[in-house]
Amino acid sequence: MKLLLVEDNQQLVEDIAGFLTEDGFVTESAGTLHDAEEKIALYQYDLVILDLGLPDGDGLDLIPAIQERYPETAILILTAKDGLDYKVKGLDWGADDYLTKPFHKAELNARVRSILRRRFAGGHNQVTFNELSIDLNAREVTVNNYLLKLTRKEYDLLLFFIYNKNRLLTKESIAEHLWGDHIDQADNFDFIYNHIKNLRRKISQAGGGDYIRSMYGMGYKFVTG
Ligand code: CA
Repeated sequence: MKLLLVEDNQQLVEDIAGFLTEDGFVTESAGTLHDAEEKIALYQYDLVILDLGLPDGDGLDLIPAIQERYPETAILILTAKDGLDYKVKGLDWGADDYLTKPFHKAELNARVRSILRRRFAGGHNQVTFNELSIDLNAREVTVNNYLLKLTRKEYDLLLFFIYNKNRLLTKESIAEHLWGDHIDQADNFDFIYNHIKNLRRKISQAGGGDYIRSMYGMGYKFVTG
């Protein structure tokens, strides 16, 4: 899952990005409202973690742009301002949750997981499709109760496909989701082919169906029927 951290405190950015990355998230950051607007115009995120006190404005002003462009993107407000009015305003504008600084990283982590679970997995820790079962906490995939040995990229790839069932995913969108925004500088996105090939092989070797179709010249699709 790919997150955008909008925060002007560089030390906090490094800390948060550090532990979220360790936890398996692809984490991008923006230090100003302007940078964040640019990122949102160019790239898609599963979750935006939004500081409200930014050097060039109020983080709340970013919410309508996020919602207009990507309604499925979740928003977690992060701020030192703990006034009730402010909190209510953020939630009214469409933020999913709110965390007041200072916070413990375990709490941020729990909020992030809970928001993503609600947004993408119907509130469950387990995502299942036919014989495939994904344990979101353990980051494990089983096929008919047989545990697959997946690399981190293969796991992220499968989750991205399952959350976007029957939707054409371009190679570029897959690459950006799994490797980060900077990958759009790559000459081509053929490197994802091997990851997809290995994922399909591991699923089928365990007796699972072959749901991932290559859409020639366009990308890939997880086909359910
Ligand atoms: Ca700030």
